[in-house]
Amino acid sequence: MYYNIMSFDYDKLLKDASGVLSQKNKFEERLKVPIPDIIYEGKSTIIRNFIDIADMLNRNPQDIVKYMTKEFGIGANISQRRLIINRKIKESEIKEKMDEYMATYVLCYECNSPDTAIEKTGRTYLLVCKACGAQHPIRATREIKEEETELSENKTYNVTVTEIGRSGEGHARYGEYTIYIPNVKKGQNVKVLIKKIKRNIAIAEVVK
Ligand SMILES: [Zn+2]
Repeated sequence: MYYNIMSFDYDKLLKDASGVLSQKNKFEERLKVPIPDIIYEGKSTIIRNFIDIADMLNRNPQDIVKYMTKEFGIGANISQRRLIINRKIKESEIKEKMDEYMATYVLCYECNSPDTAIEKTGRTYLLVCKACGAQHPIRATREIKEEETELSENKTYNVTVTEIGRSGEGHARYGEYTIYIPNVKKGQNVKVLIKKIKRNIAIAEVVK
């Protein structure tokens, strides 16, 4: 039995939990990712099984706290086996952050196994997979994401024209986007105003 934990399908995990329990294979055991048990008290959000989750992921609870507080921009602290976050945060948001944490710090980038460890070599942190042996520097997903989603309409950007398209328009790359710019030359650095974005294509014009 194999779970795609990447998508963190809690309902499916729940439904299949009995199947996992019946198998004593160590790897299968690791796949029992606990569902965050969330309650609200006043203005606080409490994850009651926080330490269980950290244990299951084989990660230092303080590292996960650091990640969560940075992501939510708010204080949180561990009390007994619970995590107390000083704000009301929707269950879906917490799950989403847990997914992101898993994708960056837990799941092997190659085989997706959660059977991994973080090792420090020099100044680099490596995600080392015990299942397939892959080793990769921990990637900063957050930084990549911000660059990808930054483009917006009616804003200006400095870009470099890297090629000329079929109709003679210039193309510039920006994160995931290709920006179409009329009346430019290849290699030109231009400041452009984004007029329209459709999927990953943006139409722009040069501004002075
Ligand atoms: Zn692996």
